[in-house]
Amino acid sequence: MRVANVGGRLALGSGDGWVDVALASGDRFSSDPQAIYGRWDEFVSWSADGVAADAPQVTGRLGAPVPAPRQLIAIGLNYREHAIESNLAIPEHPVVFAKFQSSITGPDAVVELPSDGVDWEVELVIVIGREAHDVPVEEGWDYVAGLTVGQDLSWRAVQTRGPAPQFSVGKSYPGFSPVGPVVVSPDELADKDDLAIGCRLNGEVLQDGRTSDLIFPVADLVSRLSQSLTLYPGDLIFTGTPQGVGMGRDPKRFLVPGTLVSTIEGLGDLSVTLVNGF
Ligand code: ZN
Repeated sequence: MRVANVGGRLALGSGDGWVDVALASGDRFSSDPQAIYGRWDEFVSWSADGVAADAPQVTGRLGAPVPAPRQLIAIGLNYREHAIESNLAIPEHPVVFAKFQSSITGPDAVVELPSDGVDWEVELVIVIGREAHDVPVEEGWDYVAGLTVGQDLSWRAVQTRGPAPQFSVGKSYPGFSPVGPVVVSPDELADKDDLAIGCRLNGEVLQDGRTSDLIFPVADLVSRLSQSLTLYPGDLIFTGTPQGVGMGRDPKRFLVPGTLVSTIEGLGDLSVTLVNGF
């Protein structure tokens, strides 16, 4: 199952088109793309019954498929080679921080760079489909509605300034959390724990990895986070970035204006246009 935000309305992928869920369900489900995760199991059953061939379609620009999560959680240093390039220890427990909801944007957005020191981080993003607290690792995937592509854009000088790091602020400028283009349910993926992941800027490959290298993979992360937090339907978890960020290079490199395309196997391309805003 593929779900998107088409012109601000919840849409279900059908062939090359998008079914308007509110119209096709006779308003059983809201047109609000965020609201569906609160009724995910019911929605999965409804869509499994089959949508009529002449179901009403919706067209328009794709927006963020999950535009207003109650919590936007992010994980640092979740790939061994990225921890090494960051000159930091391999974590024994997930390194957790928050990104703020105001930083979310969708596919094909224009993102203003607030400085010439903004770095890239392509990430697999988990969309939670059931309330989760104290979940065992064997059941972790059961709480996942789907997966999407994200960029954890990061102004490194802000992230690292002060006596303690400021991850949440340095990674939450407007447009610093692009997500999309769609949410894909795990059953669509041949191996949901081993997906090619990468990004390229103006055609140049910057990152090229595999999600099988995650230190704490999806089910483990859901379980470990749920030992402390309550996860809610529609929450997003950015799972961390593979090696190849600009900060870890010699000399360091940062984003310049152009097109940043982030890709995960089976989930599609998330493209944003970067412009200087300083
Ligand atoms: Zn990150």
